[in-house]
Amino acid sequence: MAEKILIVEDERNIASFVSMYLKNARYQVEIARDGGEALMKAENTKPDLVVLDLMLPDIDGLEVCRQIRSSSDVPILMLTARDDDIDKIVGLEVGADDYLTKPFNPRELVARIKSILRRATQTQKSGRPPEAVMEHGAIKIDAGRREVTVSGDQVQLAPKEFDLLWELLDHRGLVLTRDQLLERVWGYTFAGDTRTVDVHVRQLRRKLGDECPVATVWGVGYKVADDAPVT
Ligand code: CA
Repeated sequence: MAEKILIVEDERNIASFVSMYLKNARYQVEIARDGGEALMKAENTKPDLVVLDLMLPDIDGLEVCRQIRSSSDVPILMLTARDDDIDKIVGLEVGADDYLTKPFNPRELVARIKSILRRATQTQKSGRPPEAVMEHGAIKIDAGRREVTVSGDQVQLAPKEFDLLWELLDHRGLVLTRDQLLERVWGYTFAGDTRTVDVHVRQLRRKLGDECPVATVWGVGYKVADDAPVT
């Protein structure tokens, strides 16, 4: 069975253009023209992935994302017209899995959808051991519950923020380049938009505050020090 993609986009030419590319890539496609229809189709047609435009005529795309997330883990790729929205999208505590800025190359959209779905399938099949827990200083990260606490207080991280923190903690003492992080956390196999990594690190620092263990290695990437601070 072909995987089903729900495209949420009010601009008809973009919706049909994206739809054509996805059908050529052998996906099933559903289209929703506004937020209300998106919520209904997300519920009724059980898509494997949602491509969600930020600017919709009725309900804001961010609100649609939040509402879908409240009942489903379906991967969501947001489309946005303005660079300024990126912080808002990745900062969402119920975050989207990925985003693309318009105008985008439809081949890149298809490539990202493939990698998101591949990762989703891998997680379903193998997943991380549910008991996997890592601690670093005051931070405790639980892969099974997908929960992060700082000194026992829970911190809400978006899915990619969680995965990024996990990846860095899992390689503590090692420097990971932005491209390595893109590949490991986002599944890109090409050199992508590394600003995504920087924006997510910024969000981690904002949310974890002084306890954020992620250090910038100038000109290279990011790392978590070997030794946790004594708390
Ligand atoms: Ca739109």
